[in-house]
Amino acid sequence: MSVRFIFRCQFCSDQPDPLTQVSLEKAMRENTWGAYQDALPGRWLVFHARGLYGSPRYACREHRGDLVAYLRQHFGTIGYHVWKRPPYPSSLAHSDTDHAWIAATRRQGGWGS
Ligand SMILES: [Zn+2]
Repeated sequence: MSVRFIFRCQFCSDQPDPLTQVSLEKAMRENTWGAYQDALPGRWLVFHARGLYGSPRYACREHRGDLVAYLRQHFGTIGYHVWKRPPYPSSLAHSDTDHAWIAATRRQGGWGS
């Protein structure tokens, strides 16, 4: 049984295309916070929040600039992470999360491959 995350742009409620969905699901496994990440190929923007930043945020290609502005307006005084400038990495993975991801994928029988 695989868990399926539902991602919606917080500005227009758009949903990602299937390949970007996979990128977003992978991004959710990143053990990080306070970091922006590109989700390709749809160029969605993820903000890994947690802690003082609250829940993770997502925005579609059209609204990624709005997400950055929103975060800076709300969190700009409490954390420097939101001021990070692009380009943002498309992967924050290091070897540990890669191994965990591969193991999890194998157990679930792959993601549509
Ligand atoms: Zn949007």
